[in-house]
Amino acid sequence: MENLVVAIDGPSGSGKSSVSKEVARRLGVAYLDTGAMYRALTFACVDAQLDLTDTAAVTAAVKEARVEIGTDPDHEKVMVNGADVTAEIRKPSVSEAVSAVAVILDVRAELIRRQQEIIADHPAGIVAEGRDITTVVAPEAPARILLTAREEVRMARRGLQLGGTQTSEDLQRQVVARDAKDSTVTSFTTAADGVVTVDSSDLDFEQTVQAVLSVVEAAGKPA
Ligand code: C5P
Repeated sequence: MENLVVAIDGPSGSGKSSVSKEVARRLGVAYLDTGAMYRALTFACVDAQLDLTDTAAVTAAVKEARVEIGTDPDHEKVMVNGADVTAEIRKPSVSEAVSAVAVILDVRAELIRRQQEIIADHPAGIVAEGRDITTVVAPEAPARILLTAREEVRMARRGLQLGGTQTSEDLQRQVVARDAKDSTVTSFTTAADGVVTVDSSDLDFEQTVQAVLSVVEAAGKPA
């Protein structure tokens, strides 16, 4: 399929990242983790000791920041202003702070533009995942999916993913607070028109990947 853009949105712990990466591998296309871009910029702002409620200062820092993000699903690499932050951006300190940066509309406008450029730079195909990909970044993508899961399933998966470094109450508090804050600027809990919902609560990893691949396949067929 020409111009194979697969847009995947969903809340934290829906399996979005691991499923999106595997779908990119199976389709032999690139992969874009837009959350990693928000995380990298948040790291840069925290590192510069900016007050994250100072929207003008954060916006200026974001506009100046150079973010380089790898698009190989087998090799995660995120650089900000020349520094490799691949590991740092997954730390709880960044997860706690990221929504404060992501709710600033000027920050979003800048990142949306950069993400659209990255997608356009991959004409052979890309799977892009985040919170506003199906609705704002790539609303014209032929395949658009909302990947969801029940809250308790998401919490359990998130705990496994972080390797038990945080207590479950801490984690639950953080994830629920982050989703609530993110929901003020992005709509990722209900599917927009033309977006197919895949609920992974009762599916294993392979079944979820297959469900997403079926949506992609159906999108390639004439209606
Ligand atoms: O996907 P991940 O959990 O790594 O995303 C981190 C944060 O980045 C989200 O909590 C949200 O604040 C922000 N984000 C966003 N829009 C996207 C992707 C991520 O606002 N498209």
